[in-house]
Amino acid sequence: MFFTEKTYDINELARRNLHIHTNFSGCAKEEMEFAEILRVAKSAGLEMIAITDHVYKRDELPEFIENCAKLRKLRDEINPDIKVLIGGEFSCYKEDDYTLNGVEIETDYRLYAQNHFHVTGWQQGDDGTPEGYKEVTKRMLHNLFRNKAADTIAHPFSGRYLTRAKGWPGDTVGNTWSENELGDIMLEGHRSGCAWEFNSGNIGSDPELIRKMYHIGKEIGVVFTIGTDAHRLEAVDTKNIATELKRIIKNG
Ligand SMILES: [Zn+2]
Ligand SMILES: [Zn+2]
Repeated sequence: MFFTEKTYDINELARRNLHIHTNFSGCAKEEMEFAEILRVAKSAGLEMIAITDHVYKRDELPEFIENCAKLRKLRDEINPDIKVLIGGEFSCYKEDDYTLNGVEIETDYRLYAQNHFHVTGWQQGDDGTPEGYKEVTKRMLHNLFRNKAADTIAHPFSGRYLTRAKGWPGDTVGNTWSENELGDIMLEGHRSGCAWEFNSGNIGSDPELIRKMYHIGKEIGVVFTIGTDAHRLEAVDTKNIATELKRIIKNG
């Protein structure tokens, strides 16, 4: 389902940061304590945030559920005056499987990563080519959308997680997507109630893809979110991503 209204105004989008990791995610800095995140979010003028710690396969769910219960308890104690979703960054790691496939858990927000190709066990591109990665991405996303499994797709379409394994520049896979292909999949996602994320990492690695996503998505009428993918406190604020996003979408 959609958590934000449809808007193409970057300042408005930037009032919400729907992709933040706490120190329950091993890759996030120790300083990412829930109360600290709230303090920084409030001073940055944010109206809504989503906590999205990583969870890959289903055997990680018990620990994740426990952590979410702790965060929910903290949220109740602090009673913040901004909206705080306690969700997860779940994984669509195969074309026929994803973390919450057939599992019901209590969660406010289902952000799904489809392209963490660097993670062990993740399904790879059909023939190892950039086009092959695009094709497997389509099938993985079709399955998520068919099952209405995701609220938002994290860092969509980018192949930047392959840079180390393949030695490809970050935008190699992203640039294989034609405008028609992007339009088709973004519309399919929208019809399943799924939003599309502008992610800080993609803005750095795939500016041309971001530019296309913005203009095509606006034409079709999809819902966008902003996610800084914060792993440190400094990245909770959306100011930098908003500035970059404005610069990119005005180019062309
Ligand atoms: Zn991710
Ligand atoms: Zn993330």
